[in-house]
Amino acid sequence: MAPAAARPLVMKFGGTSVGSPAAMRHAVDIVRREADRWPGVVVVTSALAGTTDTLLRAAKAAAQGDLDAVRRARQALEEAHWAIAKSLVPTRPRPMVWMEVQRHLETFESLGQAMAVLGEATPRGLDAVAALGERMSVALLTAALQAQGVPAEALDAAEVLVTDAHFGAAHPDLEASRQRVQARLVPRLEPGRVVVVPGFLAATPEGVVTTLGRGGSDYSAALLAALLPAAEVWIWTDVDGVMSADPRLVPNAHTIPELSYREVAELAYFGAKVLHPKTIRPVIEAGIPLRVRNTFHPQGPSTLIVRERQVTPGQIKAITLIRDLSLIIVEGRGMLGVPGVAARTFAAVAGTGTSVLLISQASSEQSICFIVPGARQRTVVQAVEAAFAAEIARRDIDRVRAMEDVVIVTLVGEGMRHTPGIAGRIFSALGARGINVIAIAQGASEVAISLVVAAKDGQRALQALHPLTVDG
Ligand code: ADP
Ligand code: ASP
Ligand code: MG
Repeated sequence: MAPAAARPLVMKFGGTSVGSPAAMRHAVDIVRREADRWPGVVVVTSALAGTTDTLLRAAKAAAQGDLDAVRRARQALEEAHWAIAKSLVPTRPRPMVWMEVQRHLETFESLGQAMAVLGEATPRGLDAVAALGERMSVALLTAALQAQGVPAEALDAAEVLVTDAHFGAAHPDLEASRQRVQARLVPRLEPGRVVVVPGFLAATPEGVVTTLGRGGSDYSAALLAALLPAAEVWIWTDVDGVMSADPRLVPNAHTIPELSYREVAELAYFGAKVLHPKTIRPVIEAGIPLRVRNTFHPQGPSTLIVRERQVTPGQIKAITLIRDLSLIIVEGRGMLGVPGVAARTFAAVAGTGTSVLLISQASSEQSICFIVPGARQRTVVQAVEAAFAAEIARRDIDRVRAMEDVVIVTLVGEGMRHTPGIAGRIFSALGARGINVIAIAQGASEVAISLVVAAKDGQRALQALHPLTVDG
């Protein structure tokens, strides 16, 4: 492997970091500053903020017969993209760049019409639509960089990242992707030059466009960094790195200077939207440092993700919140000692294609409870009831019950491992505010403790627990 100094830098800009003329201007300045300092720079960009939502919402509406939604979405997208083209792309190249944006918008309209005629939006069709957002932002960002004298060229991710055909959340084929990265991306890297790649999208070996899941541009950057391999990956976003809590919910949240791979994986899994959960693994396995930085405050504090870190016992690093969940409870005296209840319960849930976020079972075995997304509640309850129809008829299982409107609050920190008294601190902080804990779960890794509380208590719980997090 090339020494780090001879390796390129991968930088990813999120939707808000390219979502307005002023934001993209910041992004361009950042790239321009770095371009000469590395033996090549790869820039991965998201779609302009809100674009993916707009595209997908309109496509789904079209499939329901509302073609006007596509027209309205096109107009809104045109305005947002035009504002950037007008202020960051000089007059001469502008018509060319605008033609490319228009070409993608035409594709969007055609796909929308097809969906309206078919009365169906397939996962494959939705991926084709969603990918257009990143393709449009690449066109603008490349031109905006060139306008500032940065030699930049675009390279479509469908050319380099190969995945299976699991549309909506495709799995990368690392070997096939590595070969393409080596053949098509590496030769373009030179000191001072910048290659701009759309995040989020990839393609099957046959060239059908796929996406890596919502928020997947982080993952694109991490994959490219691992496959190159890069010297470092910088994720540019709209906050000062990974913070002790979502700053929108806890205004006095602070930046965490250093986090371990395990901690950030738990944080991402339990709802800290700042990094896509799958992002960290490829870069950590390749031993590549990953930094999360603020596009709007580039000299400000940032977070470095490391493989291992020095742990201070008792230290809680961050708290997260996931909303819109339901707690499902399977209970009954007759369950006592009946083997396979848990296995059958979760087989029934898996059969509905629902992912379970948290499981908690009392030692008496009289009840099992677990958390699923609120939108899946009805389907899951019906599936579990069907699986235990005989036991319910015999009254061995009393009922399958759902508690709506709950949230998961998770505390994360390697320092919680083997440290007694943490649960006590958590319960007294919540007790002091009169917040009731419905269920609690701790993974065997002891890096995270999750609490289930009523939705109405969610933000208060977060704020009550935040003082338990510490700096450093
Ligand atoms: P991007 O478009 O740059 O990918 P995202 O919206 O996906 O940005 O992620 C950044 C957002 O994540 C922040 O604006 C913040 O509200 C949210 N967030 C949630 N939890 C955290 C956390 N612990 N630290 C930082 N940001 C967080
Ligand atoms: N634009 C995509 C999304 O909103 C991917 C990303 O921004 O990471 O999900
Ligand atoms: Mg994101």
